[in-house]
Amino acid sequence: MKFLDWLLGGDQRPAPTPLFEESRPDPKKFKQVPKWTHAGRAGKTIYCPECGGPAHVHNFAWSALSCSDCKAVVGKYKWLLPVTRKKRKKRKK
Ligand SMILES: [Zn+2]
Repeated sequence: MKFLDWLLGGDQRPAPTPLFEESRPDPKKFKQVPKWTHAGRAGKTIYCPECGGPAHVHNFAWSALSCSDCKAVVGKYKWLLPVTRKKRKKRKK
């Protein structure tokens, strides 16, 4: 996806790295935290790229956050956001 390359700044590795060895989330459903993210009133749940553990944040005024699950200190733009973009048609299997 060219758009994703653009979104990630173009300096990321093109091939997806297997960050989640066991129950890794669908890479199409997650994106890295973009620079213009706002948490909003309710905050946002982000996911650790190391272990997939969730973390709930109320703002993005930080440069790195340590994961409560695996204790890794993860830079802001490496955390994963679930992609909630809705499509016009939902396909049911
Ligand atoms: Zn983690």
